[in-house]
Amino acid sequence: MAIIIDGKEIAKKTREKIKEKVLLYREKGIIPTLAVVLVGDNRASMSYVNSKHKACLENEINSIKIELNENTTEEQLIEKIEQLNNDKNIHGILVQLPLPKHINSEIILQKISPNKDVDGFHPINVGNLSVGNAKLIPCTPLGILSLIKSTGEIIEGKNALVIGRSNIVGKPVANLLLQENATVTIAHSKTKNLEQFIENADIIVSCVGIAHFITGENNFKSSAVIIDVGNNYKNDKLVGDVDFDNVKDKVAYISPVPGGVGPMTITMLMQNTLTALEIEK
Ligand code: NAP
Repeated sequence: MAIIIDGKEIAKKTREKIKEKVLLYREKGIIPTLAVVLVGDNRASMSYVNSKHKACLENEINSIKIELNENTTEEQLIEKIEQLNNDKNIHGILVQLPLPKHINSEIILQKISPNKDVDGFHPINVGNLSVGNAKLIPCTPLGILSLIKSTGEIIEGKNALVIGRSNIVGKPVANLLLQENATVTIAHSKTKNLEQFIENADIIVSCVGIAHFITGENNFKSSAVIIDVGNNYKNDKLVGDVDFDNVKDKVAYISPVPGGVGPMTITMLMQNTLTALEIEK
C-alpha cells in the first residue's frame, strides 16, 4: 500500500508558516494584500474567488474582491488593472479566468504588472520560469512540486513523466521538475506508447482531465510517486485522473483526489502574495 500524500495536511502546515510571516509583516505595519478581479457571474468562478478570499482572511492576508459586471469592456478592465498596478498597498493581483468572451484574456494577463502577477501567467513570468529564473510561478505547479518534495524522495536524476502540456499546469510543472534536475518527459494526446513511459517513470504527474485515465492495468515502478492533478466528475463524484483504489497498492506514494493537489493551489496563491510583496520591497 502506497503512502498517501496528504495535501490537506501539507497545505495546513504551509498555511501556518505563511500566517506567521504575514503577522510579522503586520507588526511592521505592512499588510499583505491580494486583489482578485472577477468579471461577470460565472458560478464556478464566483465560488473559486470566494474560496480564495476566505483562505486569505483566515491567514490574515487582506483580500480585496473586485466584482465587475458582465458588460465590463476590455478597456474598463485594463483601466482597473492599471489602477491596481499603481496602488502600493496592493501586492498581488489575480484576474479570475475565464473572462467573458468579448474580453481577450491574453491581452488582460499581459496588463498585470509581472511583479504582482500571483498567478504567474504573465509572459515575462512564463519566460523567467523557462530560463530558470522565476519568482512568481503558477500556483498549481508550485503546489505539485511541494507535494513531491514532501515525500523526501530525491528528484535529481529521476525519470519524471508529466502527462498534459497545458500552459497552466503541464508545461510549468515540467519546467519545475527540469530545474530540480529530473529527466522530464512531457506526454500529450498525440503521444504514442504512453504505457511504456508510465512503466519507466519514477515520478508521474497526471494533468489530463479524464476520470481514471491511469488504471490498475498500467504497470508502474513499485517506487513510483504519483501526483494526480485531475479534477473530474464520475457519477457525480469528484475523482482524479488516476483510479486511486486500483493503483495505490502498486506504487510507493500517491496523492488522492480530493485532498491532494487541490488544497495546495490556494495555499500557493497566498505564498505568491508574500513573494510579490517581497519583490516590491
Ligand atoms: P487541459 O488544458 O485540458 O490540458 C489537458 C492535457 O491533457 C492536454 O495537454 C492534452 O493533450 C492532454 N491529454 C488529453 N488527452 C490525452 C491522452 N489521451 N493522452 C495523453 N494526454 C492527453 O487541462 P488543464 O487545465 O491542464 O487541467 C488538467 C486537469 O487538472 C483538469 O482535470 C483540471 O480540472 C485539473 N486542474 C486541477 C487544479 C487543482 O488545483 N487541483 C488546477 C488546475 C487544473 P493535447 O495538448 O495534445 O491536447
